[in-house]
Amino acid sequence: MNILVLNCGSSSLKFQLIETDLDLIEKNADAQKAKGIIERIGSQALITVQAAGKPAVKQAAPLRDHRAALDYVLRWVISPEAQIPGIRALADIQAVGHRVVHGAEKFVKSVVIDQSVIEGIEDCIELAPLHNPANLKGIYAARELLGTGVPQVAVFDTSFHTTMPETSYLYAIPYQLYRRHKIRRYGFHGTSHRYVAYRYREIAGLTREKTNIISLHLGNGCSACAIRNGDSVDTTMGLTPLEGLVMGTRGGDMDPSILEFLAHKEGMSLTEIDTLLNKQSGLLGISGLTNDMRELLEEEREHKDRRATLAIDLFCLRVKKYIGAYLAELGGTDAIVFTGGIGENSPAIRARICTGLENLGIAIDEKLNNTATGGKEVEINKAGNKLRILVIPTNEELLIARDTVRSIKDAPRRW
Ligand code: ADP
Repeated sequence: MNILVLNCGSSSLKFQLIETDLDLIEKNADAQKAKGIIERIGSQALITVQAAGKPAVKQAAPLRDHRAALDYVLRWVISPEAQIPGIRALADIQAVGHRVVHGAEKFVKSVVIDQSVIEGIEDCIELAPLHNPANLKGIYAARELLGTGVPQVAVFDTSFHTTMPETSYLYAIPYQLYRRHKIRRYGFHGTSHRYVAYRYREIAGLTREKTNIISLHLGNGCSACAIRNGDSVDTTMGLTPLEGLVMGTRGGDMDPSILEFLAHKEGMSLTEIDTLLNKQSGLLGISGLTNDMRELLEEEREHKDRRATLAIDLFCLRVKKYIGAYLAELGGTDAIVFTGGIGENSPAIRARICTGLENLGIAIDEKLNNTATGGKEVEINKAGNKLRILVIPTNEELLIARDTVRSIKDAPRRW
């Protein structure tokens, strides 16, 4: 089957076309046939599309909304220029899988989309006001352009974390607030942590129940996840993706009293403070330079920029703290896995995070660490180490495509 995987943001649409089915999943032989991204939807959009094995093609076009963007993608996918094997007409796309950010407590696994699922995703909008509406736009656009005969599946960032115990997901605020408003930790990046756990158990030759790892997704957004017996038992992101690690522009953990203090001292509204914490903090806020880890490492190397170093050090220390916290929470673990743009590509950051953890059985082999860049799966711990340390490039799209196939088989419901 050819599955179109869509990841819609407020002004962007990412897609992949993946060939997979139960047999291909079994053989680990699924194939990515095309991918692309459309940015700045709503004005002159920037489009990058790429068929497998061919160079990327960049274009610009006025695309009014997500429907226009998806229409553009679909026209390209079936066009003779794209020349994607086995794709000549829209009928060659058998299903659509959507990344949906927030599924709250309602969606514990991926589901075939029908009217009740749409209503469920709408119910979660107040928890993800920027993300869920964009995800819904992608669902509506696909229904309109591909027709109701093509099944669509929603894969939630939060589902993997629905196995967390109460002690991990509750905040220690009056319990009625959880009852009344469902204020709790939900966690995000679930599809990435789940993929990494799945790859780890393939590499290690383990069953799901024997999978015990700490997964570190370090990208623009960052989160750690404690995985016991294959299940997420704790994660660093919370009610929203703001909590936990230091990220590109998000500050992560801090004393909530800072909000009131800021409002008072700087005369800021809650909305302004929310923007400050989400968009102007983290690596960008500390360095005053950039949210991009690669650029910070360059600034440090070439100009010995003090605040670039400070931002990187804060980032690494926060990850280190959570490794310690999760080792204690899990009573030890078998492996630490790095993923995400930074986790997959930066030997320097991985080394800085793990420095000083030797007494906990965590030690990186410098040579192996240096080979782990550019999308390679590599084990980077020193020989004889207590814990395995691995770099596993994430592949959320593949998991979404596979979930789509499996969900359709289990529940061949339609609109
Ligand atoms: P997102 O969370 O938006 O998916 P990514 O997972 O692509 O983001 O991660 C983006 C981050 O990865 C950026 O901070 C970027 O600088 C960083 N990154 C990518 N390659 C490298 C590298 N070679 N060294 C250090 N950081 C890198």
